[in-house]
Amino acid sequence: MLYIGCHLSSTKGYLHMGEEALSIGANTFQYFSRNPRGGSVKPFDAGDAAALSALIAERGFATPLTHAPYTLNPCAAAPQTLEFARRALREDLERLEHFPGAMYNLHPGSHVGQGVEAGVARIAESLNEAMFDGMGTTVLLETMAGKGSEVGGRFEELRAILDRVERPERIGVCLDTCHVFDADYDIVNDLDGVLEMFDRIIGLGRLRAIHLNDSKNPPGSRKDRHEKIGEGQIGLDALARVVNHPALRDLPFYLETPNELEGYRREIELLHGLRSA
Ligand code: FE
Ligand code: FE
Ligand code: ZN
Repeated sequence: MLYIGCHLSSTKGYLHMGEEALSIGANTFQYFSRNPRGGSVKPFDAGDAAALSALIAERGFATPLTHAPYTLNPCAAAPQTLEFARRALREDLERLEHFPGAMYNLHPGSHVGQGVEAGVARIAESLNEAMFDGMGTTVLLETMAGKGSEVGGRFEELRAILDRVERPERIGVCLDTCHVFDADYDIVNDLDGVLEMFDRIIGLGRLRAIHLNDSKNPPGSRKDRHEKIGEGQIGLDALARVVNHPALRDLPFYLETPNELEGYRREIELLHGLRSA
């Protein structure tokens, strides 16, 4: 079974996203936990959440992926920014307890001049403060393009964070194909080699989700500009190999390509067509 969906707007609530996913042939989806650029959050609607959970169970969806807002920087140096990150992280994780077995995708953040080592320590500290005993959600650290002072552009940086977290059983990784390509991991010519490296440094057991995106820019560009599937520098053949790779094919795939709903519907159909038996 290929589990594939796309990023959807959460402004009309939980159940609406489930119905929208169904309408484009998706069997999972991703959404922002709160306003992605501001960080404000709507009051929680328990009835709406229960309605989505019922639909997910009935239709056999893979777990939706909740994405933290871009403004949440868990390794910020500025006290106010760091305080917001830790509070929002904690609130988001508390809210997700309404969805047993949820997954929460987090950018490790930008160290803004502190250096990678200080950034890594701060991120781990933020996670250790925000996560709590008995929580059911798994936090996924996203592989980053390494733009600016982003932490997480190298597998070793994610490893260093994992080594410092106090609840490792609740931490995983989400691999973004555009980001790793932009960070100069050659998934086009040597997907096996990249996955072997991932396994050696992080462990494939930690890999829980794939962000499936093409890239507007060449390998190693560190730009992080997503492109539609098959229209970028990664290309359709390489992305089809990602979707069919034995180590990846059972993971959920989330498209974050520059599309409206109709474009996402076509990409989901295209990838189903490229899926090997
Ligand atoms: Fe992301
Ligand atoms: Fe992503
Ligand atoms: Zn990106």
